[in-house]
Amino acid sequence: MSEKIEFPLKSSFVPAVLEPSAKIKFDCHTGISCFNACCKHADIQLTPYDILRLKDNLGVSATDFLKNHTIPFEMDKDGVPGVKLRTDNGGACDFVTEEGCSVYKDRPTACRYYPVGQLALKEADAPEEETRNFLIQEDHCKGHGEDRETAVDDYRHEQEVELYDQINREWLQLILKKRSAGPAIGRPSDTSLQFFFMCSYDVDRLRRFVLTDSFKASYDMEDSFYERVENEDLALMQFGVRLLKQVLFGDLTIPLKERAVAMRLKQRREFLEMRKKAEIERHKQMQEQQMKDALS
Ligand code: SF4
Ligand code: SF4
Repeated sequence: MSEKIEFPLKSSFVPAVLEPSAKIKFDCHTGISCFNACCKHADIQLTPYDILRLKDNLGVSATDFLKNHTIPFEMDKDGVPGVKLRTDNGGACDFVTEEGCSVYKDRPTACRYYPVGQLALKEADAPEEETRNFLIQEDHCKGHGEDRETAVDDYRHEQEVELYDQINREWLQLILKKRSAGPAIGRPSDTSLQFFFMCSYDVDRLRRFVLTDSFKASYDMEDSFYERVENEDLALMQFGVRLLKQVLFGDLTIPLKERAVAMRLKQRREFLEMRKKAEIERHKQMQEQQMKDALS
């Protein structure tokens, strides 16, 4: 039996898997009769890295990007929050223009992959999930009727998705872990869901949180860490995923101040214990000597 995540995460339909070397017959160009049709019926789920790229492209904060260009949705029955690109009432993406995509160089992962879909499968006894690809064929997309043939891996390379996949991997694994745990974890509290939203999507709020006195009092981090996350969105986003893993799943990779104090107390206790044992040993030897002296 295997667990699966479909991206977008919404259907139980398991399509035919494409091997990396499999050839797909597809082409998309400005002269095609359906140009922009996909972007006018957009249903694009965003990853944390998609949001960084898009908000930088627009020169706005993550908070403003989320507010003005996305809509929230629930990724599963436990209400784990996801975000999708906002569309108009007819389904057209905020960023589609007559000339094409206005954020093309920073377009989201799902737009890059289309018409290749992604499926993450995790065998019950496997340590990690494996990503499989499949072909999405929709009536409005005439690219499948073009002559060009490309291997799936070459198509992924052309679309520069390797970087996106690499950066998104840990976050997707986290979602898969939550799903695999099923009822064992149960529905997270509202606070946990809000925390998930902040750590996943809103680097501005996450930065404010990480720079608070209360965070600094809780986590044992070097000064260089604070300098880095103050200036680097990507480093902060990746730290956010670690923080989520620690808070939601108890993966203790971020040292806690309490733990550091507890460790120091433990070392002190061990030291005192050793000293006490040495004292007792010395006392026993003295007593033994006294007895020997008495018997001599
Ligand atoms: S982001 Fe660009 S490529 Fe993606 S749906 Fe919108 S207009 Fe189309
Ligand atoms: S060929 Fe497909 S992907 Fe390209 S513009 Fe047409 S509908 Fe969109």
